[in-house]
Amino acid sequence: MATDYYGVLGLARGASDSDIKKAYRRLARDLHPDVNPDPGAKERFQEVSRAYQALTDPDKRRIVDLGGDPFDSGAGAAAGSPFGGAGFGGLGDIMDAFFGGGVGGRGPRSRVRAGDDALIGLELDLEQTVFGTTEDITVDTAVLCGTCSGAGTAPGTHPTTCTTCSGRGEVQSVQRSFLGQVVSSRPCPTCAGTGQVIPDPCPECGSEGRVRARRTIPVKVPAGVEDGMRIRLTGRGEVGPGGGPAGDLYVEIRERPHEVFTRDGEDLHCHVALPMTAAALGTTLPLTLLDGEETDVDVRPGTQAGTVLTLRGQGAPRLRATGRGNLLVHVDVQTPTRLDAEQEKLLRELAVLRGEDRPGPSAEAHGGLFSRVRNPFK
Ligand SMILES: [Zn+2]
Ligand SMILES: [Zn+2]
Repeated sequence: MATDYYGVLGLARGASDSDIKKAYRRLARDLHPDVNPDPGAKERFQEVSRAYQALTDPDKRRIVDLGGDPFDSGAGAAAGSPFGGAGFGGLGDIMDAFFGGGVGGRGPRSRVRAGDDALIGLELDLEQTVFGTTEDITVDTAVLCGTCSGAGTAPGTHPTTCTTCSGRGEVQSVQRSFLGQVVSSRPCPTCAGTGQVIPDPCPECGSEGRVRARRTIPVKVPAGVEDGMRIRLTGRGEVGPGGGPAGDLYVEIRERPHEVFTRDGEDLHCHVALPMTAAALGTTLPLTLLDGEETDVDVRPGTQAGTVLTLRGQGAPRLRATGRGNLLVHVDVQTPTRLDAEQEKLLRELAVLRGEDRPGPSAEAHGGLFSRVRNPFK
């Protein structure tokens, strides 16, 4: 007949993990052979330790709940020493019972941990950053293992309680010094502090719970993003160890230079070459905007070199507000370099007509009458 492991700990069937732990600590404190000289105590202590082991290991406990005995070799689970080679239910638990669980005790840490964030660059043309786009990006990342769904175990198998630390995730050592007993604890080297070991690792991920994979993800790029900005895709980063929740994926925008337009935040800039004569006489300049629309830019007679014409609302959309920036058209007035004989003759006549055949320093630029007096050309 199977032992009533719940009864050994004074508990009802289906007791919670923390009730089991509490009951065990209370009993172990009373029954440990070092403190209880009663000859029956040692046997009772072993019973209690065995019950604790049976009920804290999910596999063993399932057998108990099904009416079996996990330490009965016929049940197929946990053959060998009922104490898993770790002595009286594990030194950690005993120390816990005697030192009130406050000895650096944080319990086993989960095998499951959150995944890392990832960063990937995305090169876009100016049209795409200004007007928005949806781009597919390909990332090499860690994804959930499809074979074990993150559990890390081979199909049909389960993790077992680490026998080195009895599932506590840490091992403690006691040293005697002139100050008395010094207890120190460190993560269990066998299970890396998780309290569990995987006897049959998943053949696909080797117990990691995640595998590396190449994945294509569509990224919606809003209109108005700028070079260096990052778009966060929540939960599209790396899946964590043990199939833990994925981190975030950051997509950093890199804007390729455009042939015609440069960008300054929400404003676009371009340069147009304007012949000297057109600058003087005025003209209409055809201009293809960034969106491909044709427009005419009105250049007034007498336009100076360096003039900036503003086309309102033809810049980039504002990312966090409504409306668009402006397009600033810089006018580069071009002086003719090669004149034929007739052109030169005409320009000379024009110069004489305008009294510009013997130029000197600009009166306006040098303060009117005063500079005129000092003008060496006059
Ligand atoms: Zn796996
Ligand atoms: Zn361990």
